Amino acid sequence: MNNEGYIKTAENVLLHTYQRFPVVLDHGEGVYLYDVDGKEYLDFAAGIAVSALGYGDREYANALKTQIDKLMHTSNLYYNEPIIKASEKLRNASGMDRVFFTNSGTEAIEGAIKAAKKYAYTRDGHAGHEIIAMKHSFHGRSMGALSVTGNPHYQEPFAPMLPGVRFADFNDLNTVKALINEKTCAIILETVQGEGGIYPADKAFLRGVRALCDAHDILLVFDEIQCGMGRCGQMFAWQLYGVKPDIMTSAKALGCGVPVGAFLMTEHVAEKSLAPGDHGTTYGGNPLVGAAVSHVLERMEREQITEHVREVALYLEEKLDELVKDCEFFTERRGIGLLQGIESKKPVGEIAAKALDQGLLIITAGKNVLRFVPPLIIEKKHIDEMAEKLNITLKNI
Ligand SMILES: *Cc1c(COP(=O)(O)O)cnc(C)c1O
Repeated sequence: MNNEGYIKTAENVLLHTYQRFPVVLDHGEGVYLYDVDGKEYLDFAAGIAVSALGYGDREYANALKTQIDKLMHTSNLYYNEPIIKASEKLRNASGMDRVFFTNSGTEAIEGAIKAAKKYAYTRDGHAGHEIIAMKHSFHGRSMGALSVTGNPHYQEPFAPMLPGVRFADFNDLNTVKALINEKTCAIILETVQGEGGIYPADKAFLRGVRALCDAHDILLVFDEIQCGMGRCGQMFAWQLYGVKPDIMTSAKALGCGVPVGAFLMTEHVAEKSLAPGDHGTTYGGNPLVGAAVSHVLERMEREQITEHVREVALYLEEKLDELVKDCEFFTERRGIGLLQGIESKKPVGEIAAKALDQGLLIITAGKNVLRFVPPLIIEKKHIDEMAEKLNITLKNI
């Protein structure tokens, strides 16, 4: 069957929750993907900031195959070796102390919310605590994560949300301060806002929020699901700022394609937080994802991926700045490392759709921001190719 045939079937059977690009992807090599008709695409989407090591990576595939042949699943009633190794590596990379593995980003957020609530419950001897989140944030689609997602449009049909969540303005410390009360147990934010339009936190803001949290024994939760795992030029974006959270979430590139997320915390939080019976998952942290996370962390370290990101990102920024200068409806570039966005006065959906014709996969962050989140193994020549393809696309708009 060709693209068209598959798409027709898909539209008959899949629930219509996505406005998909009309492409059926089949396989990949490096930073290129190929559809079932054999057309090649340069990938600046990485499956939404997931496929950090690109495609067709033999070492990654072999690490998974070896584990598949050995053992896939045990449940968390037993220990398994791959996840123990992965946990140690993740602890070293993050400087956090304890980790719980989930199957997705949204579940990592659910866990982080529960961990913060339990910490405050243990301390105060009662429940009923509240959370401060940010406007224009994105933390996931399950009910808890949706409740801290600062986008009324996503929430509206599913009300009521989790009670006791208040929204501050990102990068405006006074609005955070104004929302703090004796019930506040956590402040949650993305170190770099992704879906909301690629907005990096200001250093002074993060430091200010950290100080507020310290003063009031509030837990600081950083959502590093999109901006973490090397994408911003450090393993986790907060490491660029020198502001450490009490709880951190990860997912997306954590397993480079296997469904895995995690929430991590300091020992101080762990001591007063989730205990046996408080939380669980059947799949979470099974041997297969353990092998993937272990391999990804080892590769990123061995290949000094953060250094590569820092270097190649300078070139990407340069090229994107040129595009902004040359295109009348582009207004600004924002971002850190290989998490970049260009703000546009024209709807970006059309640009992303037309880029397909040129063999370029690119995604959006909201209606007005074009998002650049390529595999982290991207090289300068691919950035040149992207700029070329995007320039032709823009001429056709
Ligand atoms: C993608 C994302 C999530 C949700 O992750 P899923 O795996 O889709 O559930 C949460 N937070 C941020 C910052 C994200 O980018």
